[in-house]
Amino acid sequence: MSRELFHEISRRDFLKLCATVTAALGLSESFIPRVAEALAASAAKPPLLWLEMGSCSGCSTSFLNSDAPDIANVVLNILSVRYHETIMAAQGEMAEKVIEDTVKNEAGKYIVVIEGVIPTKPGYGMIAGKQMADVLKEVSGKALAVLAVGSCASFGGIPGASPNPGGVKPVSEIIGKEKVVNLPGCPANPIWLLSTVTNYLLYKSLPRLDRYGRPLFIYEQSVHDNCPRRASFDEGRYVERFGQPEEKADYCLVKMGCKGPETYSNCPQVRWNGGKNWCIGSGAGCIGCVEPNWPDQFSPFYDRLPDIKLGSVRTTADTVGAVLGAATVVGLGAHAVVSVIQGKGFGKHDAGEKTSKSE
Ligand code: SF4
Ligand code: SF4
Repeated sequence: MSRELFHEISRRDFLKLCATVTAALGLSESFIPRVAEALAASAAKPPLLWLEMGSCSGCSTSFLNSDAPDIANVVLNILSVRYHETIMAAQGEMAEKVIEDTVKNEAGKYIVVIEGVIPTKPGYGMIAGKQMADVLKEVSGKALAVLAVGSCASFGGIPGASPNPGGVKPVSEIIGKEKVVNLPGCPANPIWLLSTVTNYLLYKSLPRLDRYGRPLFIYEQSVHDNCPRRASFDEGRYVERFGQPEEKADYCLVKMGCKGPETYSNCPQVRWNGGKNWCIGSGAGCIGCVEPNWPDQFSPFYDRLPDIKLGSVRTTADTVGAVLGAATVVGLGAHAVVSVIQGKGFGKHDAGEKTSKSE
């Protein structure tokens, strides 16, 4: 399928992509040749079945529109894509037979990508006359791995938000967690799918996961810890209103509702659209789209976080601004600042995480 639909990638773009994937995997530059070899030597070509359940097709769109480098082209060349409703030519019974044959003849060898939620109320989501939950069970039973791509498949996402009329569930609540790798994001970044597949090609095993089933190499560190606006946060420089020069001058967006302190992903490092830019880079706060309880516990998106984790304490944006601003003037380090906040009773010790925290 891939050869007819996708143009070849240039060597320059390919090497750039290998460098990006190597960095995304947390490997040193010396691994770039090994990553290039894994991506170029596609002889094994694990079969891939990509099924869209209850979704807006946003993750497919994000993946298929990736360019410079053309991630879709690379993934579709290293895997043997048998089924993808949006791009396949086959339809009807012929398309369903592809699934049937792959499950029957390549047990334990094929990868399943699931995009979207699984409705549990009868009639809310059907494929070829079958309930989506039944299709998922049939297809995933003999799969090598199931990649739940996007926030819907991973955690329920927007369709799973209250009041959830279809009783939708994420993939792991239908088939168990055992072989599921969650790649949340609304949509998921194409580089997350490529780096997860590359990790498998390199090590012949699934990546280490956090307690929410997300690869640690993608979702271990907070957006806040690696944000280019972090120096502004630390020094008390905040955007107070959108459209002002401070936004362009990389002031911190926490007062505009940025959820970066409670969000764990490598967005600041890999960014979007071939590394060109990302949410915070364009002046919008992070809305926490990769987290398990998103969007319910992260909305309204422009409301400030009620408190912020700073070292071992929780405090507020206003307190951080006041204390850190003063601390900068007298030259206090971050540790001393935390002590100041604790000592003044501005913050409280963690009573438990509000959202996720990678393990
Ligand atoms: S609050 Fe948001 S904009 Fe500010 S430093 Fe943290 S992640 Fe960056
Ligand atoms: S920066 Fe935040 S909102 Fe933007 S894609 Fe990353 S996790 Fe989602």
